[in-house]
Amino acid sequence: MSTERDAHEQPFAHGGPSLPQERRLVTEIPGPRSREMFARKQAAVPPGIGTTLPVFVTHAGGGVVVDADGNSLIDFGSGIAVTTVGNAAPRVVERVQRQVADFTHTCFMVTPYEAYVEVCEKLNRLTPGDHEKRSFLLNSGAEAVENAVKVARHATGRQAVVVFDHGYHGRTLLTMTLTAKNMPYKHRFGPYAPEVYRMPMAYPYRWPTGPENCAEEAAAQAIDAIDKQIGAANVAAIVIEPIQGEGGFVVPARGFLPRLAEYAKANGIVFVADEVQTGFARTGHLFACEDEGIVPDIICTAKGIAGGLPLAAVTGRAELLDAVHVGGLGGTYGGNPLACEAALAVLETIEAEGLVERARRVEAVMLPRLRALAERFDVIGDVRGRGAMIAIELVVPGSKQPDAAVTGEIARRCHAEGLVVLTAGTYGNVLRFLPPLAISDALLEEGLSILEKALSAL
Ligand SMILES: *Cc1c(COP(=O)(O)O)cnc(C)c1O
Repeated sequence: MSTERDAHEQPFAHGGPSLPQERRLVTEIPGPRSREMFARKQAAVPPGIGTTLPVFVTHAGGGVVVDADGNSLIDFGSGIAVTTVGNAAPRVVERVQRQVADFTHTCFMVTPYEAYVEVCEKLNRLTPGDHEKRSFLLNSGAEAVENAVKVARHATGRQAVVVFDHGYHGRTLLTMTLTAKNMPYKHRFGPYAPEVYRMPMAYPYRWPTGPENCAEEAAAQAIDAIDKQIGAANVAAIVIEPIQGEGGFVVPARGFLPRLAEYAKANGIVFVADEVQTGFARTGHLFACEDEGIVPDIICTAKGIAGGLPLAAVTGRAELLDAVHVGGLGGTYGGNPLACEAALAVLETIEAEGLVERARRVEAVMLPRLRALAERFDVIGDVRGRGAMIAIELVVPGSKQPDAAVTGEIARRCHAEGLVVLTAGTYGNVLRFLPPLAISDALLEEGLSILEKALSAL
């Protein structure tokens, strides 16, 4: 860590991977300039829009985020799993710059353009399963999940939607209803949408009879409840994240997802994988479903798909997506040409830089060190995740009682030392790590050392 650079200097022409890949603290975190802007934020923006770490960003790239005071922080968040290929990634910048000078919008539903079609062709080819597929594009993950439910209801003529404990699917009326957690996502925002049913999740660490029974028992309970309470013939869709994101990086016990997919298939239920957080090389596969060979009927993507530009997609079986009448799907901005060019650049980058393998390497660096920390520190109850989607769950030592206070304390200590980390979990007791795949091993190790220091200081 160097401290010689003047805090008020503006040393970078632009961001991206050419930014010095180093942690550098030249003021306290947040520094005076960020504090000044945060005061303006507090006066201009409602508190409902929260802030994890109030440093105001001027540049970002590789594994670092640079703030207005000249501090360079290590990035273990990627926004929230968005800048998987890195911030201002060169191919993204180049394609978007070219596109922005050609045209910025026509509305794909008015006069179309090739990049939208090319993104859909690529999604149809790259998503699990070699059946005939279709894709359409939207702006956000919530919009993708909501549209997947629209398609499933329309195609099946059924209404019920099955979701799971700890699930997160967005903030619109329908997706907020699909989401499990009251605070902060649902509290006093009701009434919620009808025909949404929640089932137990195969959460190995917290399964009452132990992780070894978790997959089978959770699947049996969910299927029994669907049969008895809803009736399989009334269910349009089962919507599930193959690894839960906001819910605390819960990796379902192996066998749970295949059992649900098999049940959906046998009963004409559309199996929807919400891969908004897990998709696009994040977990060591292009899609997390591939880990257990799941072929979803519909797959929703967003976050990591376009290197930070707002884009989301619904990809699914041709016969499902083709069932909807002309004009029944869409939106003004869905598949904006800049976002489509960015998505094409993201796919090129994943391939050219071997980012699927890179995610596995991130796991290979992080998991052993975190497991070693769990041996030393009793507050770590569980270490889990895949690829560059890794978390620790914090508990009162000697129990499994969630400890949100200690989780917040560790996050604050990491932030103060220049490491961007996020919390998650139904009980607010999970620290989650989502580094950009462009991060160096050295920064990854340094970030883990900061975490280790924060744990030691408790
Ligand atoms: C973030 C997220 C969403 C919502 O995406 P937005 O772009 O914020 O609307 C939906 N599902 C999952 C799994 C997510 O992580």
